[in-house]
Amino acid sequence: MTARLIDGKAISADIRGEVKEAAERLRAKGIVPGLATVLVGNDPASAKYVSMKRKKCAEVGIESFHHELPHEATQEQVLELVTRLGADPAVHGILVQLPLPKQIDEPTILNAVPLAKDVDGFHPLNIGALAMKGRDPAFVPCTPNGFIELLDRSGTEISGANAVVLGRSNIVGMPVALLLVGRNATVTICHSRTQNLPEVTARADILIAAIGRAHFVTSDMVKPGATVIDGGTNVIDDASRKSGKRLVGDVDFGAVQEIAGAITPVPGGVGPMTIAMLLQNTVRSAARDAG
Ligand code: NAP
Repeated sequence: MTARLIDGKAISADIRGEVKEAAERLRAKGIVPGLATVLVGNDPASAKYVSMKRKKCAEVGIESFHHELPHEATQEQVLELVTRLGADPAVHGILVQLPLPKQIDEPTILNAVPLAKDVDGFHPLNIGALAMKGRDPAFVPCTPNGFIELLDRSGTEISGANAVVLGRSNIVGMPVALLLVGRNATVTICHSRTQNLPEVTARADILIAAIGRAHFVTSDMVKPGATVIDGGTNVIDDASRKSGKRLVGDVDFGAVQEIAGAITPVPGGVGPMTIAMLLQNTVRSAARDAG
């Protein structure tokens, strides 16, 4: 059996189309959805992520307000900027590109983003609400939310499924596990101290890999017919490429696609989903503002 491919490129394009329509409806009411991006320092990868996000904003009719501070900026300067953006009515979402330079305390800055503008969903109160029954977070973190959209839009039944999440980070593993519990899956969270990992993963109807280890999940770790979401983005050497490098996931795609029922590729799986979910959160925030 060869697994059905879950096409993150196509699914994220559908979501961006929906976001564009929602932004047009808001503009017709005189509301222009706005996302503020904050880049501190000159890390080329961070600068590239921010510019990609701004480009996608423009494509769907979201205005972006970009702010750059030098690498040696003080915590007070970053805090002052985030506080000012928090009070700006044209800004519906604030994205502080991580990581921040060492002299700046990340939790302090993220806590300064007002809950109603936390489109990244990283505020501890938003994560806390995810973990509580009957509480809806103002925003769900983008990458984990993207995983759930991939499951939903590929027709994977979450309720009642045995889901195994590899990884327990604040930004991917833990929130995706909480989202799956909220959708009535039976969830096992695995990490570097998990014993007999292949036995645990081989019971999963839904297997989510988010550990950052190239080709870690091999075919013997996967239940036949399972849905596999590969959250890994790992750069490995590849002499056959002009760049000498290649992007691969945490899953040994070639072998696992022969066992799984459905699988996301890398690239073209979870990657394009994160920005799509950020745009969705921003337009939702603007719509909430509109009442
Ligand atoms: P992280 O903070 O480094 O967390 C990695 C997690 O994997 C930890 O919980 C760690 O366990 C666990 N782990 C590491 N080695 C393991 C092993 N051999 N067996 C079992 N568990 C193991 O990473 P992250 O930020 O969550 O990112 C994970 C992956 O997702 C990375 O490849 C990253 O690039 C990717 N990612 C993709 C997107 C996107 O597509 N948009 C966004 C964010 C991240 P311990 O807790 O015990 O250390």
